[in-house]
Amino acid sequence: MNNQTFAMIKPDAIKNGHLGKIINHLLNDNFTIIGLKFLKMSKDQAKTFYSIHSDKPFFEELTTFMSSGNIAVLALQKENAVSEWRKTIGATNPQEADEGTIRKLYATSLGENAVHGADSDENAQKEIDFFFTRRELIYTT
Ligand code: UDP
Ligand code: MG
Repeated sequence: MNNQTFAMIKPDAIKNGHLGKIINHLLNDNFTIIGLKFLKMSKDQAKTFYSIHSDKPFFEELTTFMSSGNIAVLALQKENAVSEWRKTIGATNPQEADEGTIRKLYATSLGENAVHGADSDENAQKEIDFFFTRRELIYTT
């Protein structure tokens, strides 16, 4: 399905009090929330979620950070949701992110960059399935 994506609001953004502002931002950008949970990942969950990055030098730091505090996980709907969400969040490194993007506005650093976005339709579905059962999602179309 090319109208869904998966997003997370990361521990730095929650700790810095940006949860509400980020949700407002995505609603203003016409994303529909079809699933939303507030939770804390275990280190093992973070390692499984980010297993694609297991051989990267930042894997240990990333999984420690992502399991260090509360996060929000969201399933979002919009036409071309994956690419639209990547546009809304901006570049991975907030210093390179365009003005007005979520990472430019709210990220702390390259590692603690406020939000996650799926990078393909296939991964979006896998990531939604990682956190949500089918009956936890609201289908609007
Ligand atoms: N990351 C990091 N150092 C790097 C690259 C990435 O700490 O040099 C972290 C950062 O939190 C990023 C996540 O690992 O969001 C996943 O990296 P990816 O390249 O998939 O970036 P994204 O898809 O999140 O923009
Ligand atoms: Mg990525």
